[in-house]
Amino acid sequence: MNTKVNGSTIEISLEGPISEKTSLFELNIQNYKDIKLNMSKVTFINSIGVKNWIMWTCRVPTDAKLSLDECPFVIVNQVNIVQGFLPKNARVTSFNAPFLCEDCSHEHVIKLSENVHYNYAGEQESKLNLPSEIKCSKCSAKLEPDFIVDKTFGFLKK
Ligand SMILES: [Zn+2]
Repeated sequence: MNTKVNGSTIEISLEGPISEKTSLFELNIQNYKDIKLNMSKVTFINSIGVKNWIMWTCRVPTDAKLSLDECPFVIVNQVNIVQGFLPKNARVTSFNAPFLCEDCSHEHVIKLSENVHYNYAGEQESKLNLPSEIKCSKCSAKLEPDFIVDKTFGFLKK
């Protein structure tokens, strides 16, 4: 785990599995207003990890912003499946989603970002703008989401 502090902002890069051993859970976050987690190197989360994670998010100050950047798809699934996985002041700012080539079935991972590919509901309803022009690097055919779009973006409506 790497941390970088700048005033009331802390950036934390997580690595490996989220489990009982994750050092994030021992970090004192009381004094920060902006907590940015980079999840790109997270591999998976086990059931103890989920429990500890939820206890940890309860310690995030209610006036602080918590953002999750570059979430692996497994984490997005947890956000959608596990009630209370993310507190109200938290956002998924980007995540890596699986796409599949229509022709050669080659799998691609595409990063989807808030304000580019999706927007949280605010004054307007949440909306999606999935990449439609991305072509397969092997055969140039069109890529399709290899996930159920409505379910995956369920977190926007919470
Ligand atoms: Zn292809």
